[in-house]
Amino acid sequence: MEKISVAVRFRPPNPAAADPSPGGAGGGGDREWRIDDTRVTLVHRAAGPAPGAPFVFDHVFDRTATNERVYGTVVRDLIGAVVDGFNATAFAYGQTSSGKTFTMNGSDADPGIIPRAVRDVFDTVRQTDDREFLVRVSYMEIYNEEINDLLTLEGRRLPIKENLERGVYVAGLREEIVNSAEQVFELLQLGEVNRHFGETNMNARSSRSHTIFRMVIESSAKNQIDSEDPIRVSVLNLVDLAGSERNNKTGTEGVRLNEAGHINKSLLMLGNVINKLSESGKQRGHIPYRDSKLTRILQPALGGNAKTSIICTAAPEEMHIEETRGTLKFASRAKCVSNCAQVNEILTDAALLKRQKREIEELRKKLQGSHSEGLEQVVLKLRNDMHKSELERDRLAMELEEERKLRMTLEHHLTEQQKKIEGLDNTSISADQFTDSTQLHALKTPDSKYIPDGFVAHRSRYSNDVEFSPLPENLDNIANDDLWTCLNKGCVTDLDMLEMTPGLKREASLLQDATSAAPLEEPTDARCQRLEKDCVSDQQQLEESNVRCAALEKERDLLRDKNSSLQQELSDSKREANLLIAEKQAQLDDSIARCVALERELSVSRQDAERLAAEKQELAGELGVERQKMEELKQDIRVISRAFSQREGQLTSLYTKSKAILENCKASHVATLP
Ligand code: ADP
Ligand code: MG
Repeated sequence: MEKISVAVRFRPPNPAAADPSPGGAGGGGDREWRIDDTRVTLVHRAAGPAPGAPFVFDHVFDRTATNERVYGTVVRDLIGAVVDGFNATAFAYGQTSSGKTFTMNGSDADPGIIPRAVRDVFDTVRQTDDREFLVRVSYMEIYNEEINDLLTLEGRRLPIKENLERGVYVAGLREEIVNSAEQVFELLQLGEVNRHFGETNMNARSSRSHTIFRMVIESSAKNQIDSEDPIRVSVLNLVDLAGSERNNKTGTEGVRLNEAGHINKSLLMLGNVINKLSESGKQRGHIPYRDSKLTRILQPALGGNAKTSIICTAAPEEMHIEETRGTLKFASRAKCVSNCAQVNEILTDAALLKRQKREIEELRKKLQGSHSEGLEQVVLKLRNDMHKSELERDRLAMELEEERKLRMTLEHHLTEQQKKIEGLDNTSISADQFTDSTQLHALKTPDSKYIPDGFVAHRSRYSNDVEFSPLPENLDNIANDDLWTCLNKGCVTDLDMLEMTPGLKREASLLQDATSAAPLEEPTDARCQRLEKDCVSDQQQLEESNVRCAALEKERDLLRDKNSSLQQELSDSKREANLLIAEKQAQLDDSIARCVALERELSVSRQDAERLAAEKQELAGELGVERQKMEELKQDIRVISRAFSQREGQLTSLYTKSKAILENCKASHVATLP
């Protein structure tokens, strides 16, 4: 178990409020926060420390602290741990304009935690020679308790899901595989653009939403021969929380209030979770992670399997003293929370690296010896395509499941409706269909229960059972179908049915008629009128039933139509999914084919190069021989020219001598002449 690391950072004061008192956070006014190493105390300038113990944290940074120092002290160690396979989270908590975003994002001159962490991840990965890595990133926002993907405009209101393999995850969230810090920065920029899209008041939004930047790092030992070896999967969350100020201070109304309500719900739940976790073991009880999206997503970082650092940012001004006190209290409670981080190694196919490994190996073999920038890009694109296809497949599976659920609900509804309709239809079933007397009995109206074969029980028995018949004798001979049709105003409903309809309540007077009053004592006209009235009311009820029945049938038809259109959509979606998968497969095949072709070209070029090298060597040999010959020739020339010059010397001296002799001869010849 290790405690969450908690740091507090005071931003520089507003220039108007600035007051450089030694050791103070510089808020100006009568009271100010005094920083003494890792302690923070509220002091009255005139009267000294305000009552109450000082707050003590792991690190306290004053206004002079740079992002570089904050990062180096609080976050740098987390990066090494993440690359080693531990989960890690760093989040900034504090009221609006206390410096959360400045701490997380920073400025060009002094980059914040996110850009520094991204660079460090890639530097550490590069320095880890014995493992190979797959890094992917996602960027999301929780706004009004809805999760939005910041890397794509389509990813709105994403659901949180959980399964054994992946744990808690945001379904449908875009994840991009990356292999350089620059790629991540481009994606972060895209996220910011998406976040601003259609937003009129960005400041209001940013102070009301939580942003979570996430890096998932998978790694396996290099040259791993055994595919059963574990893959390490770790997650780094860098979170810029919404402003922690209270509602009444922001004075929000209407939509804003709703937004603030959601934010406060998330932050409230974060506070609750931290409170619960800071309690000692037995008192703890249930930790309400599920009560907000934020705590659900950050669950491993809070009392779970992660190394966590919290940077609580505070404003030094006197007007913010109460908010700052709230922030410091939150930070103090967070200091009591312990996590239990361990390296995450998995053997299942849940690791993307594992799933992609074979393909990567093949590609790597193809690329061996080549340092082509273009080919590396092809590999990255392929990896991203593969991952996107997987995410797309997951999304489609999720939609399919939801549609299936909807269809089941509709089918259930339909069955219910059908049952209802059948129930209504049954009201027109003749009594003969009920073989079981108790069944029949149950369906009878109360009066008929009491007098099984009473009033209008069976027309066929009117003539035999006159004492039970409500009809006067003088109607006996016309008490046929025509009369009842006439009394029912054209309705040809079976009389037996009228008695058995459960919903058709018979007047209490009928009961009395059948039991006590002598049927024949009532005047015929009155009886007829009463009967006619009964029939009219029965008729009305029947008509109402028919209308209800028709409406239900219409509803059923509508549901059927809807169901069949849903089924159509379902099969369309399936077809689209299949097409998409086929398309992706084709793209993959195409890319692999391109890779193969490139590889072939590469090997042809390599052969050409080898042939040329051999030729070159041969030519170099020949050149050497020629050079040798030339040297020999030069040597010969040197010898010849030396001999030549010797000869020339001899000739010159001979010439000189013969010239002298000639001169002598001439001279002696002249002397001998007379
Ligand atoms: P929050 O994200 O908490 O609402 P911001 O990070 O947007 O607050 O900070 C509000 C303002 O204060 C911004 O202009 C920011 O540049 C400035 N600021 C915050 N912290 C610092 C700091 N440590 N050094 C310099 N400026 C800061
Ligand atoms: Mg901010």
